[in-house]
Amino acid sequence: MPNINDLKEVGSIGAKAIEYAKTIIKPGSSLIEIANKIENFIKSNNVQLAFPVNLSINEIAAHYTPSINDKTIINGNEVIKIDLGARKGDALSDCAITIDLSNNYQNLIKASEEALNAAISKVKAGISVNEIGREVEEVAKKYNVNPIKNLGGHGIEKGSLHARIFIPNYDNGDDTKLDEGEIIAIETFLTIGKSGFVDETDYVEIYSSLGINIRSRRAETRSLYEFINNNFSTYPFATRWLINDENDEFKVKTGISELLRSNALEPYPALIEKSNGIVAQTEKTMIVEKVSCMVTTEFKLNYI
Ligand code: MN
Ligand code: MN
Repeated sequence: MPNINDLKEVGSIGAKAIEYAKTIIKPGSSLIEIANKIENFIKSNNVQLAFPVNLSINEIAAHYTPSINDKTIINGNEVIKIDLGARKGDALSDCAITIDLSNNYQNLIKASEEALNAAISKVKAGISVNEIGREVEEVAKKYNVNPIKNLGGHGIEKGSLHARIFIPNYDNGDDTKLDEGEIIAIETFLTIGKSGFVDETDYVEIYSSLGINIRSRRAETRSLYEFINNNFSTYPFATRWLINDENDEFKVKTGISELLRSNALEPYPALIEKSNGIVAQTEKTMIVEKVSCMVTTEFKLNYI
């Protein structure tokens, strides 16, 4: 297990970054400017990014981060999920909030927030993941919205944001138990869409290294892979992080394509709700304790 002080530190930086993000997401701002500001805010605390900040709008549920030439400008009618995290060594935080600039989806966001609180109140060593999912599902029902069934919370282990445990947003019958000392993130994904499932889109800006040997590839591609492994290890990164004066967009994209063909990278396509329903997400990281848990990313929710 990572150092407890590091866990608390990256947790509190994540929580502060959420509070900061709330103040800069405004009509007229560009998505790339918002992403850069949030990522710089996290890095200014002398920690690394656990993954690229995700800014997923409306029916996009997750894994959207702007590319270097993203033209999106916030117009004030969006529901935006901000999902971010900090990393120090192998200590990670992962947290998210949903901002409703349109003011039309308070019910959905409130449901997601109440569901997260209900789920967290159940967490302790020995509880099974489907019992937590059942809590989320019950709150969703109360608010007349739907859980997303193929997204959920997860364990956090060295080198991986999605370890052993999957914590569903409904009772999926999985009686895997949480262990004392285990680090988990619970994320409640709810939607007004009828499908309750997400699909992959063609948009990919986030990848992680699979840490393999790629001897046979071009020198340029090998050096790109070396840069990725040295700087981000096997944690997710954004293509835009690789573009600089020496490596232009074309060079980076060619390298990424070759690495994908070599099965050296894992892609994270943006995920969209299948029936195009608006999605809300709320997420916190915690350490499982004997009779409860310790939330490391404590920030203020919108409605609760
Ligand atoms: Mn997250
Ligand atoms: Mn997560």
